[in-house]
Amino acid sequence: MSSPVIERERLSTQLIVENQFDVAAKLIGLEDSMQLLLKTPFRTVSVEVPIRMDDGRLEVFRGYRVQHNGARGPCKGGVRYHPEADEEEILGLATTMTWKTALLNIPFGGAKGGVQVMARALSSRELEAITRQYTRRIALLLGPYRDIPAPDMNTNQQVMAWMLDEYSAKYGYTPAAVTGKPVALGGSLGREEATGRGVMHIMQDYSRDYGVPIKDSRVVIQGFGNVGAHLGLFLHELGAKVVAVADVYGGLHDDNGLDIPALFEHAYHQRHPVGEFGRGDILQNDDIWKISCDWLVPAALGSVITKEKNANTIDCKVIVEAANSPTTPIADKILDARGIQVLPDFLVNAGGVVVSYFEWTQNLQQEPWTLEQVNTELRAKMTEGYDIVHKLAEDKGVPWRTAALAIALQRVADAEALRGGW
Ligand code: NAD
Repeated sequence: MSSPVIERERLSTQLIVENQFDVAAKLIGLEDSMQLLLKTPFRTVSVEVPIRMDDGRLEVFRGYRVQHNGARGPCKGGVRYHPEADEEEILGLATTMTWKTALLNIPFGGAKGGVQVMARALSSRELEAITRQYTRRIALLLGPYRDIPAPDMNTNQQVMAWMLDEYSAKYGYTPAAVTGKPVALGGSLGREEATGRGVMHIMQDYSRDYGVPIKDSRVVIQGFGNVGAHLGLFLHELGAKVVAVADVYGGLHDDNGLDIPALFEHAYHQRHPVGEFGRGDILQNDDIWKISCDWLVPAALGSVITKEKNANTIDCKVIVEAANSPTTPIADKILDARGIQVLPDFLVNAGGVVVSYFEWTQNLQQEPWTLEQVNTELRAKMTEGYDIVHKLAEDKGVPWRTAALAIALQRVADAEALRGGW
């Protein structure tokens, strides 16, 4: 059953996730047949997505929806538009969703979807056409009690609105079929910033227990989209100095701390590259890893912290995995040996799916919550997840990732065993 720990320039999320599985399965003594069941996706669907481009050409993109496991509830997971969103990548991300929903103890399984496309090269009309076509072709698999999509990289509230519209045209108006929608269509207050807010809560809890302050600390963030930009803003409000950020075009550095509210307006609201901010020193994309800091937050792609690139040289106290699978298994071992704490992705970035769960329940009950209620419940859920991982990691003397995965695996295995049918 065991997968060898491997390292190459860029590992797919699936390979990273598979490598992490074995050590956690061993910790809880998970029997081989259950390991096999939990490693194998329930359903993998690949669809062609043909659309007419603005210049009149027909282009056919490839789309996927992978439902990894639904033992604990309907499958749940985002939709990513990216050239590297192939079947293997989407499977890894779907698997991570199974562990994330189990760890946070919300009644969902794990899924993920994607279209292999360079999203930033598309016009708004092309983006809409791809979204509608993709949704029509996977609609059969979706539904509030089957599989519920949400935003991920290069998808947002507007994309979710189009998905909801396509689904509802087929099955009748069903707001609970999609989360991360605009509030005007039944979305939840607080959903847009929920992932970044949840990351902040994990950092606050860790800060309290391990004496790494947030106020006046130095923070570096790779990725300044939904997750990275909101997190930057929250940490700035807590008095941290965000000394460097990067997006896909390049990075920005200011040792005295960047003006995050202004940068948020420039990069997140107005959608300009961070490098065009006009203040701070411009960085090459990979130079972000050379800046010394207390908290290093990857909040973009997977497989960015590797043995070859930066695991031996990164200079920080804690790595906070806001992105999915940013650290390869060998980099993980190197960081562990160097005494750098790595807070694992499926705990750290779970705030988005937690508030998606709140959104789903609000839709089913037809009862909107206040922002205060959403944020209070989010805080409670993140701390519950933090506490249980913290305790097991300390009790067993294992890395946080292993502890988190062991808890998640046990919960999914228990549900599988009770449901049976195999
Ligand atoms: P997004 O599309 O809003 O933003 C992504 C950011 O990463 C952008 O600033 C982009 O320019 C940057 N980026 C892309 N490639 C880069 C590169 N090579 N170098 C530097 N920066 C790069 O996406 P998001 O929703 O913020 O998601 C970011 C990460 O967080 C992903 O790994 C995603 O799976 C994870 N995540 C997102 C959510 C959510 O609710 N949005 C929830 C959980 C996890």
